[in-house]
Amino acid sequence: MGLSEYQRKRRFAVTPEPAGKRAGRRRKKTLAFVVQKHRASQLHYDFRLEWNGVLLSWAVPKGPSLDPSVKRLAMQVEDHPLEYAAFEGIIPAGEYGGGTVMVWDRGTWTPESPDVDAALRTGELKFTLDGEKLSGSWILVRTRGYSSRGGAGRSTWLLIKHRDEAASRKDVAETAPRSVVSRRLLAEIAWQEGGDVKKAAAGDPAAELRKLVRNPAAVTAQKRRRKPSVWKSNRAGS
Ligand code: MN
Repeated sequence: MGLSEYQRKRRFAVTPEPAGKRAGRRRKKTLAFVVQKHRASQLHYDFRLEWNGVLLSWAVPKGPSLDPSVKRLAMQVEDHPLEYAAFEGIIPAGEYGGGTVMVWDRGTWTPESPDVDAALRTGELKFTLDGEKLSGSWILVRTRGYSSRGGAGRSTWLLIKHRDEAASRKDVAETAPRSVVSRRLLAEIAWQEGGDVKKAAAGDPAAELRKLVRNPAAVTAQKRRRKPSVWKSNRAGS
């Protein structure tokens, strides 16, 4: 698919997301995966697999489940640049996907399907994840339906955990809600980077937020990376 749709949807003078000038070249033997928790108009988890120099991307409203009896809806969205895997921060309000983004999990993936391109065409991709929260064997299966979100022809998939040692009834979204790169909650990311804290907090488990309220000194330390004024100064010219 390439990155043209990704680039068309975003104004890089305004959003701090990477422009991804071209699809990346594969330098290493491993393939990356990332799951970004994204509090946009709706909370969802963006599940991304490196393939052919881009990140194939699916929006998973409820997030991945470790329980093999649970099938999670995964709507395919536009390919993202490889650099996007490192993006954690604020997409300004009013921009495409405006809200708070957290790197919820990351690691490497290994195809189990012998021919990934063929598996994507037929709509049944088997793979192993080696991340901090997600591991073991998984499958993405395309359903007949099409998503109204994300443009015409976007396909709807199901993300399902295979039965193995990494399978669990534990609700990983609830028990492991923090960023794997900064250990922050969504509310902490929004607070420190000038986002909408109240909106972000609606995506955090209530029990974690109560702990913060009882002990505000526990807010995870993180330097401010980019000031909102940068976006505003660029906005004038667009
Ligand atoms: Mn998203």
